[in-house]
Amino acid sequence: MKALKRPLAAFLAALMALSLAACGGGKLDIPASQGGSGDFQKNMHQLEKDLIGISYITETDTGFYFERTLLYYLDKEKKQVTAVCAKPDCDHTTADCNARIGPNNLWAMEDKIYFIKDDYQMVNGRDVNNGRRVFSVNLDATGLKRVQDLEFEPDGDRSITRSDPIYHRGYVYFIYNYILYASPLGADIEKAKVVYDPGIPVEAQSGGLVQMTGNEPRYTLWGDGDHMYFMVNAQQSDGTYRYTMFSYDPEENETEKIWVVPTADEVGHWGYERYGMVDQWYLTGKSVYFFLSANGMWRYDLDSGKYEKLADTTDKTMYGKTVFSDDYMLLLNDDPETSGGTYTDDSALYVYGLDGTFVKELSLKGVGGGNAVLGIKLLFNSGDLVAFVADAGTMSEGESGSLGGGVSFSSTSKNTHDMLYLLDMETGELTFLTEFYG
Ligand SMILES: [Zn+2]
Repeated sequence: MKALKRPLAAFLAALMALSLAACGGGKLDIPASQGGSGDFQKNMHQLEKDLIGISYITETDTGFYFERTLLYYLDKEKKQVTAVCAKPDCDHTTADCNARIGPNNLWAMEDKIYFIKDDYQMVNGRDVNNGRRVFSVNLDATGLKRVQDLEFEPDGDRSITRSDPIYHRGYVYFIYNYILYASPLGADIEKAKVVYDPGIPVEAQSGGLVQMTGNEPRYTLWGDGDHMYFMVNAQQSDGTYRYTMFSYDPEENETEKIWVVPTADEVGHWGYERYGMVDQWYLTGKSVYFFLSANGMWRYDLDSGKYEKLADTTDKTMYGKTVFSDDYMLLLNDDPETSGGTYTDDSALYVYGLDGTFVKELSLKGVGGGNAVLGIKLLFNSGDLVAFVADAGTMSEGESGSLGGGVSFSSTSKNTHDMLYLLDMETGELTFLTEFYG
């Protein structure tokens, strides 16, 4: 009798542990202290804000936090993903879930996660927007605190284009009515200083009927060393708009124009010239690295003002999506997507050093786990790790027929989900982490 009881108890205990793991509630296995200087993480900030996958990530010494409806933690060592919620029996679907805090623009600093979001609160059964604000939570997503306001009037930003704020070395940089401001973390918004004012007339900010010109400022903010950098479509002396980079020194409160995205006359033709924007750029030290479709990888020297072509595209790397780090440029040939096809076992990631040397080709064989892979979004490179999301599933042929007059139609329906992967650049080992539906 006794001999039987023990295995049964052990079995029940194991079953309990399993069901706890499955529902996700209970004790959180996240290091209590993870470092983090609060410096702008360049390699975590190159994500397109599109529908595939994940748009905001921050790195700590032990892992990564990211947002995908919930706040998740990805452990570097264990290569495991957990929803950041320690509430017992929580299924992470209700508003009081710790992980359900809608965190955009994440950064980690001194054992806290900071994030920015529009602060909606229910007042008399109505959702009221109290404006964009900075919040902080502990590393286990408890202890939610309001840190500061990023709108002079709550919900008063009339910018048609939304640009992401950043944090770098003590300052929050944010946009309100097209004007870029710098504010010390936690400071009263009235103390914010103007970094750049593109001079959009006040009536265009009033919230009334506004004729869009297509030249409304769209900012990309960046941090490196003691300076903040930003790229914005700015009017040039000849009246045209081109993407232009400025640097800002918060100590001196000085803004300086440092680079205008080149024309084809300067660097040669490229595949998709969008508003005079390079396909992807990355600033570190005194160099701006960028990639041009059907052209190559380039470096612009901010000191000398000279261009240097580092690598030519090949047949396989003609049109690609890239992510950079301080060590590498990774390039994913995105030809399957532009042609409406799927990735195959031959699909690969191409790794270049920042001096333009070709390092290696990494196979994407096995991505999708047997499903068709319709799209891949590179997330980041950190050390030897590359993270990406695959849009995987099935495409089925829908209806097709004729509308008459020689016009035919066909439709396809897409049933896909996002699969998150880590790839070890050194060993080539591919780890499937988790998948997201809806
Ligand atoms: Zn929860």
